[in-house]
Amino acid sequence: MKDACVVSAKALKLAGELIRPGISTLEIDETVDKYINSQGAVPSFLGYNGFPNCCCISVNDVVVHGIPRADCVLNDGDIVSVDVGAFINGFHGDNAATFACGNVSDEALKLIDVTKKSLFKGISEMIIGNRIGDLGNAIDTFVRKNGFSVVKSFNGHGVGENLHEDPTIPNFGTPHRGPRLQSGMILAVEPMVNLGKEDVEILSDGWTVVTVDGSLSAHFEHTIAITENGPVILTACD
Ligand code: MG
Repeated sequence: MKDACVVSAKALKLAGELIRPGISTLEIDETVDKYINSQGAVPSFLGYNGFPNCCCISVNDVVVHGIPRADCVLNDGDIVSVDVGAFINGFHGDNAATFACGNVSDEALKLIDVTKKSLFKGISEMIIGNRIGDLGNAIDTFVRKNGFSVVKSFNGHGVGENLHEDPTIPNFGTPHRGPRLQSGMILAVEPMVNLGKEDVEILSDGWTVVTVDGSLSAHFEHTIAITENGPVILTACD
């Protein structure tokens, strides 16, 4: 798992370094695809349920599952979420982050910051004996306290030999409820947070998820192992 997660993390870091006004999301995707293949790995998302590319790249009001396109050119002030996974030696890694393109508004920066911090609020609950509801509740409570909304219709997941495995990890929940966290579980936790209302819809391409109210959305994800010594972030970079 560690090998797959390291390639995933480095691929995500590379995507972040490529983001600048004037680059298309397809150019970012192609460069990251080449990198993953150069490591002897395969992009986890390419062909997954027919997904056509290596990365999901979701700009501004796109929440997740944005399809990279040559005509989607980044502008100064955009926020850009990249979700990418790699498969090697029989296992997948999965991670995501939202990046600022050039100079973004203070509101957008706060959204990015709160979303990233909410992921770490969730990770801090990934202790043996805690439950999935503790994790989700920590994320949702922190996001609501900051005036934003957690997306309820997309979730984190177990990850391993398959990209998506049980259990489902909602980014909200009731404390002390849900499956118990056990040593050896490896979970992809991935809060999606909207600046406005939580409602989302899927566009006619069957993939692109957008906020209904057009507000900005951010997304952070790590693959994390639950161990006797606490949570270990396998997709941590550096
Ligand atoms: Mg995921």
